[in-house]
Amino acid sequence: MLNEQRLVELFCRLVRIDSPSFGEREMCAALKEIVGSLGLAAVEDGAAKALSGSAGNLLVKIPGTLDLPPLLLCAHMDTVEPAKGKRPVLHPDRRITSAGDTVLGADDCAGLTAILEAATALLEDGSPHRPLELLFTAAEEPYCAGSAVLDHSAVESKEAFVFDLEGEVGLAANRAPTILSFTAEIEGRAAHAGFAPESGVHAVRIAAEVISKMRLGRSEDGRTTVNVGTVSGGTANNIVPDRCVFTGEIRSFSDEAAENELEQIRSLLARTASLFGGRAVLHSKKHVKAYCTRPDSPAVQHFFRAAAEAGLSPRLTETFGGSDMNQLAQRGISGLVVATAMRNVHSVSENTGIDALMAAARLALSLMLLKE
Ligand SMILES: [Zn+2]
Repeated sequence: MLNEQRLVELFCRLVRIDSPSFGEREMCAALKEIVGSLGLAAVEDGAAKALSGSAGNLLVKIPGTLDLPPLLLCAHMDTVEPAKGKRPVLHPDRRITSAGDTVLGADDCAGLTAILEAATALLEDGSPHRPLELLFTAAEEPYCAGSAVLDHSAVESKEAFVFDLEGEVGLAANRAPTILSFTAEIEGRAAHAGFAPESGVHAVRIAAEVISKMRLGRSEDGRTTVNVGTVSGGTANNIVPDRCVFTGEIRSFSDEAAENELEQIRSLLARTASLFGGRAVLHSKKHVKAYCTRPDSPAVQHFFRAAAEAGLSPRLTETFGGSDMNQLAQRGISGLVVATAMRNVHSVSENTGIDALMAAARLALSLMLLKE
């Protein structure tokens, strides 16, 4: 049976661990110890080396007692900054906050706790269950760097539930966007701004022309966003700037639309630079690729059944953020990102509550106990 006191103690223990992205060693060691005490082995992959981080992704297998396809439950080990010296504070109204000077780290200690408490109860009760895989990823926050290099050959499941979504427990996202980032490097020609401005090529002017013509913000159909986040260039007030760099990102529920948007920026940049006599190059990186898990797919059916059995009101939504589910979907694994008892994430006012944590654990246990 799920045990509230054990769950709260586990959550607080995990929150107190410093686990910044690429520095998850201590968290990884704690998780190995916890699953070890359940008689399970955790296999750490080579992501630490691949990412120059301190921990790899952890995969834990729970052999099934029912002859059903395996199912994967996932949460990430890292937290965003400020995350050093996190102290959980339990309030009389059953909320849990940080001490106010760090994030709480419910993103994603709430996910880790829900899955681990559910696994503990499952094994303690000895209830029949399908084979299960628990995946605890490193470096999710920097665009899912850990799951991007996950050794997928070790993963057997074709269905996954990623415990990493803000919102009331019972909510799940079946759609997430492609996220691309870009860097535009513009090269002009320096000249004295007073003596010979005519002989210069103004790199900042080129950037300004390009940015003013870009379709920033949300597209008309609401499915794509474009942002320029930083601009830098120039060295002194009396010099025509010979260099300007601007960076930004594109998000879209359509991978094709994101690629199209990028190509439009690329050609606008090239055209404008050559019009002014400069040169420009656009670098880009696709961090995660869009996916959509169909509402009639087995994963969604499983989620609705498990959530209802856990006494929750299941419903689907979309998220405009990436998660490990994007990477799993790329490898042919169908699934959802499920809401996991976290509020105001990525801020020092991040908080959760004991009831929401218990609800997330009930959901995890119900998924583990699915009979078909
Ligand atoms: Zn997260």
